Amino acid sequence: MKMYYEKDVDTEVLANKTVAVIGYGSQGKGQSQNMADSGLKVIVGLREGGSSWKIAKDDGMDVRTIEDASKAADIIHILLPDEIQADIYNKSIAPYVESGNTISFSHGYNIHFKYIKVPEDVNVTMIAPKGPGSMVRRTYLEGFGIPGLVAVEKDATGNALQVALAMGKACGLSKAGILETTFREETETDLFGEQAILCGGVTELINAGFSTLVEAGYQPEIAYFETCHELKLIVDLIYEKGFAGMWNDVSNTAEFGGFTRRERIINPDAKAEMKKILEEIQKGKFTKEWSLEAKTNMPMLNRLRELESEEKIEKVGSKLRKACGLEKKAKEKEEKVVVV
Ligand code: NDP
Ligand code: MG
Ligand code: MG
Repeated sequence: MKMYYEKDVDTEVLANKTVAVIGYGSQGKGQSQNMADSGLKVIVGLREGGSSWKIAKDDGMDVRTIEDASKAADIIHILLPDEIQADIYNKSIAPYVESGNTISFSHGYNIHFKYIKVPEDVNVTMIAPKGPGSMVRRTYLEGFGIPGLVAVEKDATGNALQVALAMGKACGLSKAGILETTFREETETDLFGEQAILCGGVTELINAGFSTLVEAGYQPEIAYFETCHELKLIVDLIYEKGFAGMWNDVSNTAEFGGFTRRERIINPDAKAEMKKILEEIQKGKFTKEWSLEAKTNMPMLNRLRELESEEKIEKVGSKLRKACGLEKKAKEKEEKVVVV
């Protein structure tokens, strides 16, 4: 394992360099503000007429078209949604890429699956925060940061790793540590994590538990607290102190019940399916499916979003979070990030 901290990274390699951050969504906003506050010359590349343009202007960023930003930059950091990056790269970025430039990403998707092809004399790097953009910003303002990943796919200039690490330091990631990886490893594990555990697995687990209780006649509000709300408290314990710390904090009853029942939920079938999901990712089957979906205006994604919003747990959760002031608190946290 190779981990880089503050002392290992010199941002001097970016002196007199211009970083164009393309996109001002979750990651673009957080990362570009952090890099600018750390003293880098940052410009933001956006399409005219999109809603980000005004947001970035209001944040005081130097906003230009994607073409102009790419032209002016030494480092082009592409923070657009993955499914549109290749089109925008080919149309608005590639014509302006010069020898010795760096094309940088926060996810290896388009490089690893070869949707974007970069000229031989250009660096291809990745600096990826392990968390959403709002957290990248919030932790930076609090004087710390979240961990990140760094990878170099192509080192044309001989210092591509230093360039990527310097961007990571300016984003605040080397305070917590930047772990070295490869485009392949980051891309495949990221897709697997979000599908099987973080986004897909966990929502299905919660909803299965919630509906089991509701169908058995328990109050939906009680079911929500038990299967969804409390999950955060448990995950926080695991995040801070590992499994052992969590088991130590819950009751002996919970510990015994958890140990003796958990393998009936995540059973060998579930594990076998995880393996299949990973293989679909590795073989490019998932990417093919997603790329077709994105090209046809996302009929399946839109339908699934609609169905998800009709789930009972969503209605109960929304009502309860309001009643407990949780939504207000989350909003205040977001606003604090914007105001500071
Ligand atoms: P977002 O979906 O938040 O990006 C939105 C930005 O893209 C907006 O500025 C939007 O501009 C612009 N955009 C969208 N469509 C177009 C278009 N057709 N033409 C031009 N600009 C467009 O992206 P994320 O920040 O979520 O993701 C960026 C990258 O970071 C991805 O590679 C992702 O995998 C990676 N990543 C994301 C994480 C996250 O937590 N979100 C975590 C780690 C990595 P406009 O307002 O004009 O539409
Ligand atoms: Mg991802
Ligand atoms: Mg309990």
